Amino acid sequence: MKAAIIGGGIGGMAAAIALRLRGIEVDLYEQAAKFEEVGAGVQISSNGYHVLAALGVGEAVRATSYEPENIQMRHGSNGRMIVNIPIQQVAQMRWRAPYLHMRRSTLHDALVARANALGAVLFMNRKIQPDEIRNLDADFIIAADGINSQCRTHIFNTSAARFSGKTAWRSVVPASHLDILPPGGATAWAEKNIHAVTTWIDGGKSINFVGISEGDWQDADWNGGADRKKVEALFFHFVPQVCEVIAKSDKIMKWALFEHEPLQAFSQDNIALIGDAAHPMMPSLAQGAVMALEDAWVLAKCLSDHQVDGLAIYSTLRIKRVARVQKESERNLNRFHRNGIQKWVEYSGAKALSRFMPSYFIKRLDWLYGVDVTIDEKI
Ligand SMILES: Cc1cc2nc3c(=O)[nH]c(=O)nc-3n(C[C@H](O)[C@H](O)[C@H](O)COP(=O)(O)OP(=O)(O)OC[C@H]3O[C@@H](n4cnc5c(N)ncnc54)[C@H](O)[C@@H]3O)c2cc1C
Repeated sequence: MKAAIIGGGIGGMAAAIALRLRGIEVDLYEQAAKFEEVGAGVQISSNGYHVLAALGVGEAVRATSYEPENIQMRHGSNGRMIVNIPIQQVAQMRWRAPYLHMRRSTLHDALVARANALGAVLFMNRKIQPDEIRNLDADFIIAADGINSQCRTHIFNTSAARFSGKTAWRSVVPASHLDILPPGGATAWAEKNIHAVTTWIDGGKSINFVGISEGDWQDADWNGGADRKKVEALFFHFVPQVCEVIAKSDKIMKWALFEHEPLQAFSQDNIALIGDAAHPMMPSLAQGAVMALEDAWVLAKCLSDHQVDGLAIYSTLRIKRVARVQKESERNLNRFHRNGIQKWVEYSGAKALSRFMPSYFIKRLDWLYGVDVTIDEKI
């Protein structure tokens, strides 16, 4: 059997490895002439790590990652703690795999090296046009072509992605350049209609900043370099740890966040969508890349067990889980941006629950982080 994969991001590369591990031939087409650093840091939770381990890149990625002790939610303007989860301990003990922070490029490089080593054939600088999709020389086609997927639009007949009203800002700063360091875990700093997340990456040598603000998108391009003064003005009321990271950032990137109506199915004939092409989501649960990893594993298993019928089985197995993750990502973003009485009620509830009933608080995360698709047949 032979698969053609469109797109060499996290999802496409993971699919290439998963398919090669099952003896399926792979041609992967990537429009970029070479892979460059896209984005900055990513969090890979325990459910994503299970897939990395099964793909054979877990240890390599872990060695250059940062393992946070805690995940915290704090007020953006005064730094007061709302929720603290001892993630390192919980991830290992409860979800049986580490929770990691890393550069996206660290993860992607490891996947590319492994796909190459396993004999996947990579065609770079090769943009697949919509009318080529059905004619690719393969038994089935996997579209991993991201949020602006041509395959989704032309084969699954959907409208183009629409702007969500939210914009993300990202940068990475060497920790040695900062006078005041953010807490040593992942910290979400929440304020009305805006929040920031700071994480440590590069084994603790750098600080990764993601900010998400609400408002109209007035720039022509949907991603690219951002004006630091504009970002400083947006986050001026945040704690010094956040303002300092922004002030010391050489380069800040902006990302207009887009969304799609959910699909009824991720497969059609011999074509399947994975990752952002299938189910783009807000980044506020840090699960987009993780879901792409899970998709890749499940799809390869379905294809190897059921050949082309496996595509529909993959779709059925994945659709409920990713829909829940999409909804929860959106909910989390809104939770971070609350104001007024609703904010007071929700944050007080979360604070009390995490402090006085920590086991119950953490148990409510099992549906997401506690899943291992490499052994669970039903996901
Ligand atoms: C601010 C922000 C923070 C995030 N943080 C996290 C996080 O902490 N954890 C997490 O899990 N996720 C996170 N995400 C989400 C994550 O980055 C994405 O969900 C993930 O990268 C999607 O991977 P993908 O392979 O589906 O798509 P992409 O990474 O977009 O890859 C698509 C690939 O397809 C190629 N391509 C497109 N069209 C064609 C074509 N016609 N022919 C050939 N090639 C084509 C593109 O060049 C690209 O290489 C974050 C996202 C944002 C915006």
